[in-house]
Amino acid sequence: MVLNFYAGPTALPAPVVEQIHADLTNFQGTGMGVMEISHRAPEIEFLIADAAERTRGLLGVGRDWEVLFVQGGGSLQFCMVPVNFSGPGDRVDYLDTGYWARKSIAEARTLGRDVAVVASSADRDYRYVPVAAAIRARPDARYLHLVTNNTVEGTQLRRLPQSGIPVVADMSSDLMTDVFDGCGCDLAYAHAQKNIGIAGVTMVAVRKSMLERIGGHSELPGQPGRPARPAILDYRTHAAHRSNYHTPPVFSLYVTWLMLGWLAGEIGGLAEMGAINRRKAAALYEFLDETPFYRALAERDSRSVMNVTFTLPTTELIRQFLDESGKAGFAGLAGHRSVGGCRASLFNGVTEDMVARLLDFMHGFARRNQGGTFNG
Ligand SMILES: *Cc1c(COP(=O)(O)O)cnc(C)c1O
Repeated sequence: MVLNFYAGPTALPAPVVEQIHADLTNFQGTGMGVMEISHRAPEIEFLIADAAERTRGLLGVGRDWEVLFVQGGGSLQFCMVPVNFSGPGDRVDYLDTGYWARKSIAEARTLGRDVAVVASSADRDYRYVPVAAAIRARPDARYLHLVTNNTVEGTQLRRLPQSGIPVVADMSSDLMTDVFDGCGCDLAYAHAQKNIGIAGVTMVAVRKSMLERIGGHSELPGQPGRPARPAILDYRTHAAHRSNYHTPPVFSLYVTWLMLGWLAGEIGGLAEMGAINRRKAAALYEFLDETPFYRALAERDSRSVMNVTFTLPTTELIRQFLDESGKAGFAGLAGHRSVGGCRASLFNGVTEDMVARLLDFMHGFARRNQGGTFNG
């Protein structure tokens, strides 16, 4: 049995995988496999509506929020956000906290928005996140976009800034991992493959009042009468068709629906999931801090609960660590290519027992390679 610490797609909880096995050939007594049923069939229409309902329940938001499921991953949201809430030349504000934040900024620039980076952690190699109080948005900007968990660098923004303008949060790697701050943001999105399922579907939770801000501005200046944006890129299209405007990724949606059921049922809600996730991360950071052979990469106040980035004294030891951990049955411990070193991703599907076994391995590896500590 391989222990999966990949940064996404990643491990699913065992009960979810067992349910998938059963539903592959006979979904809820239909006699059909779940991925063979039409998206217009009542079973699937129910599943999509129920996934939205489960999402509202877990996030603790009411009917004033719309829950949408779309395709295209986190990356398509980098484009949909500016295309819905701003026009060419409009002011839009961004936080620059790392790899994914930079990608979101690049897309807004490609679309010709007037982008301001209102806070950045580039000065210290993205090893920290700016404190909420230091973030000042332009009052006339259409929105402030930020990434709550920086999957690549292993940092996390725990308090959202009070910016006075709508806040849009890329929560691709931490939505549904702890209680949701519904007051702190107006739109939160997350693809499923990190904490809430498999690749193919992206959850968008958005205040209905935010949808009313979607403008009639066109991407094609001087052509009045044309639709402002392609229908498939307009959040209102997906809201009006209850996330069933065109053929949705039925199987991915189904897995997300199961994950949401597992979170609410077996786990007992996001407060409980948050407690488990914080225990997993604390065990790993504590070990890293007390073992001079390893060094955590993120600054203490900014450490991510989801992605623990760390390094070893030499590149040779890193190579050896990755090689031996792979042979010992641990998958996905290499750091992102832009950062190097190592990374253990502790998403919802990773159990406390898996973390304990990783710590055993890391302890043994340090002992076998004694003498290789950091200088100073
Ligand atoms: C993984 C990730 C993305 C990219 O998502 P895709 O679904 O691959 O497009 C975006 N943002 C964050 C924070 C991520 O961790």
